[in-house]
Amino acid sequence: MRYDTIIVGAGPGGIFSAFELTRLAPHLKIAVFEAGHPLSRRRCPIDGEKIKSCLNCKSCSIMSGFGGAGAFSDGKYNITNDFGGTLYEYIGRKQAIELMQYVDRINVQYGGEGTRLYSTSGSQFKKLCIQNKLKLLDASVRHLGTDINYVVLENLFNELKDKVDFYFDTPVIDIELTEDGYTVNTSGGKFDAVNCIISVGRSGSKWMEQVCRALDIGTRSNRVDLGVRVELPAVVFSHLTDELYESKIVYRTEKFEDNVRTFCMNPCGIVVHENTNGIVTVNGHSYEDKEKQTDNTNFALLVSKHFSEPFNDSNGYGESIARLSNMLGGGVIVQRFGDLIRGRRSTVKRIEEGLVTPTLTATPGDLSLVLPKRILDGIIEMIYALDKIAPGTANDDTLLYGVEVKFYNMEVDLDKDLMTRYKGLYIIGDGSGITHSLSHASASGVYVARNIAGKAQ
Ligand SMILES: Cc1cc2nc3c(=O)[nH]c(=O)nc-3n(C[C@H](O)[C@H](O)[C@H](O)COP(=O)(O)OP(=O)(O)OC[C@H]3O[C@@H](n4cnc5c(N)ncnc54)[C@H](O)[C@@H]3O)c2cc1C
Repeated sequence: MRYDTIIVGAGPGGIFSAFELTRLAPHLKIAVFEAGHPLSRRRCPIDGEKIKSCLNCKSCSIMSGFGGAGAFSDGKYNITNDFGGTLYEYIGRKQAIELMQYVDRINVQYGGEGTRLYSTSGSQFKKLCIQNKLKLLDASVRHLGTDINYVVLENLFNELKDKVDFYFDTPVIDIELTEDGYTVNTSGGKFDAVNCIISVGRSGSKWMEQVCRALDIGTRSNRVDLGVRVELPAVVFSHLTDELYESKIVYRTEKFEDNVRTFCMNPCGIVVHENTNGIVTVNGHSYEDKEKQTDNTNFALLVSKHFSEPFNDSNGYGESIARLSNMLGGGVIVQRFGDLIRGRRSTVKRIEEGLVTPTLTATPGDLSLVLPKRILDGIIEMIYALDKIAPGTANDDTLLYGVEVKFYNMEVDLDKDLMTRYKGLYIIGDGSGITHSLSHASASGVYVARNIAGKAQ
């Protein structure tokens, strides 16, 4: 079977490539290969009752399948160059924002109408943050919520299913160069294409490394972010979340001059497991539907670690720390802030007696046995700094789940078209190491599709 363009991976990057290609060049024959299931068959077996922890399914429904890692996410589309990726370094700041705004319009058109676009511009909190040695980053954020995000994905799939050949549960094994394009070897046979867009996200990171090695495409080692997920009563942060929904706040620690930042804030949300290559870490999301909301807000506090010579395995470092927490806790560990400060582990009894009811079943333990001192000290300093703008953050009963790790893919050598040294072989989204978010990954898909469609006119 021969296609004009083969897309590997049906996450936001792959979906928006397919969407824009079918819109601009409907005559092109396009296929999408996806290792995971169709959206309707994606179901994580953890129900919190019979199955409480990760079973390491062959295809993780949280990370893989139509919608990619974003399918059950909180659906926060941040429109900003300040975080979420460095796409702007390749395509320019103005174009990056325009593409993210375009993605936002499509999301609104395909089910997101009625959702709110929040913005930091003109916010009184910028001043309050600065007065307390905190910096509020600039962004607009569309919060679709896990439920509406699912509806948008369903609608996008219905839009695409008759225009694109989808191959689900069909991982791509490798990619070969041919005289006039590429042969894509999959678990379901060989397929040829003139152009190939790789958008395999975080779950495809190891595969991506293999492909780069096999095709001699240069890569650079990247960073890893480590920290905890904080869960506290929603009222503590409601003045910020009501106005901004998500606030990205950076704090520079006094002790080590490290930057600690808030990440992925979920007002009235839940804390969830995340499984990356068999390692269980923590994440969070929230629903737009009021019925599904909780009394708690959660967000991550992360510290970035960049390594220098001779060490270059930043993800390996993050994995080792996550494995340590899995070893001690059998999965994710939860600890009360008060217990952490007093140098003692949390127990089931102390958590039960606390004023914050955990939304994730995790093992009460001691995070100081897992996280390096420098990182933990930074997190504690930031909790006290946040307490000044959101009193109650440093309460004894505030829950800390660990560990939260943000793995970053190796950054692949790409030109300004996001093309490798091979004509027609593009790498986009989180798999490229350039993006780390829904909006940046989606925007990179639109960008490459426009490039291919322009050449195909
Ligand atoms: C729980 C959770 C919550 C999140 N919340 C947010 C949020 O609110 N806002 C935000 O901006 N970001 C969020 N993120 C991050 C966001 O989901 C990612 O940045 C985004 O999905 C990246 O898109 P992508 O298309 O590059 O990759 P992915 O979404 O990871 O998609 C890649 C796809 O490729 C497939 N694949 C991998 N290897 C192969 C192969 N060899 N052959 C075929 N298919 C393959 C995978 O199965 C996957 O479906 C969240 C992530 C998680 C896990």
